[in-house]
Amino acid sequence: MTTINLTLADVHRIAWDTLAANGCNDDNASAIADTITVAERDLCHAHGLFRLPGYVASLKSGKVNGNASPSVEQLAPAVLRTDGDDGYAPLALKTARDPLVKCAKENGIAAMAMIKVHHFAALWVEIESLTEQGLAAMAFTAYTPSVAPAGGTRPFFGTNPMAFGWPRSGQPPMVWDQATATQARGEVMIAAREGHELPEGVGIDRDGNPSTDPNAVLEGCLLPFGGYKGASIALMIELLVGPLIGERCSFEAAAADNKDGGPPRGGELLIAMDPTKFGNPEDPFSHADRLFSELLSIDGTRLPGDRRVKNRAISAQEGISIPQSLMDKIESLSG
Ligand code: NDP
Repeated sequence: MTTINLTLADVHRIAWDTLAANGCNDDNASAIADTITVAERDLCHAHGLFRLPGYVASLKSGKVNGNASPSVEQLAPAVLRTDGDDGYAPLALKTARDPLVKCAKENGIAAMAMIKVHHFAALWVEIESLTEQGLAAMAFTAYTPSVAPAGGTRPFFGTNPMAFGWPRSGQPPMVWDQATATQARGEVMIAAREGHELPEGVGIDRDGNPSTDPNAVLEGCLLPFGGYKGASIALMIELLVGPLIGERCSFEAAAADNKDGGPPRGGELLIAMDPTKFGNPEDPFSHADRLFSELLSIDGTRLPGDRRVKNRAISAQEGISIPQSLMDKIESLSG
């Protein structure tokens, strides 16, 4: 496969130019380009430039508002709501962050219900921006059906990711971020593009048979991680980002979607907690550091998020590399 090397500044410029050429105003293009750039910085290519054709598809079809102007309202002392104005999630998340941080610090805990957004990125991005403010945080979102419920053989749940972060002083936060599917669908799409087999147990084909062929799994469906236990977590996420906040569940998002290749409209729930407000008589951050040290004293362990953070040194030194075919596709998007 022929690849090309880019600096992170190149990544940002390519993303911004492409989005602006396809109907995004500066605020929206900048917020999305920031999200794409941090994904490439951490070598999370599945949420980097690879997503640009999908972002553009929904701008072109008119499904997503490239001039979205998100707004925040307070529904209860510790419950806020952001209306994303049918735009991509990055600008809504940027708009939501300061009010959520303020509300969580005042109340000890605060929830942000985010509606009318199109989420096409990794959740660790919003979690890290909250841990940077000294908050522990959780995020949940749904998508369109691609994961079978326990015992089922047809897609019902989205890949429904959830993420959790804990702030640390003088060190990167501990952040885990995972789909409730065995694998994120973007990873399966990359395996299909690059001709790799999937590990056993990731998915089933359209007839319900186990398969390691990414194309067969894209036609069939993924399985939830951990069998019925993962399926229950996927179900919880559907409830948190659907009925709880008044947005679409995965099956409803699929029914309303125009299938243009971009992300459906949906919701996201963020919960932020101030660890200093929960009554720990000692410093909760030192207490957590003891937990992490104890864990890391066991051979073979590492903290979630460490691999990703270490990748920053690689991308800073070497830049990043993307397939030439992706670059050609991106260039064709701007005419
Ligand atoms: P992975 O299975 O690759 O990783 C899940 C988490 O486990 C990461 O935080 C990872 O940290 C951690 N981890 C992996 N190995 C270890 C280990 N040995 N010890 C400790 N921690 C470990 O992620 P997924 O494929 O499940 O999800 C990929 C992404 O896709 C997520 O960012 C998710 O938000 C996104 N997504 C977005 C959707 C959307 O609609 N917007 C839909 C579905 C997924 P590390 O990164 O350091 O390896």
